[in-house]
Amino acid sequence: MASFYDEIEIEDMEFDEDEQVYTYPCPCGDKFTIYMDELRDGEDVARCPSCSLIIRVIYDPDEFADEEDQESTFQVESTITVA
Ligand SMILES: [Zn+2]
Repeated sequence: MASFYDEIEIEDMEFDEDEQVYTYPCPCGDKFTIYMDELRDGEDVARCPSCSLIIRVIYDPDEFADEEDQESTFQVESTITVA
């Protein structure tokens, strides 16, 4: 199994809204990155593109998985007919 350089809580990472990516400073000077899509897929390993270090991201998968619920709520609202 891979050994992690560290374990970081998602709240301690920096979120880039434009790129939809979480980053955390790597000791090599670059940044560990993990994309929102990866989190939704259950991925919890953030990688640094410049070195071989990896960190484990601690997060609650439920917080990244309830988009479909919001969509269905929207659909219900949009089917309300005006009498
Ligand atoms: Zn690095």
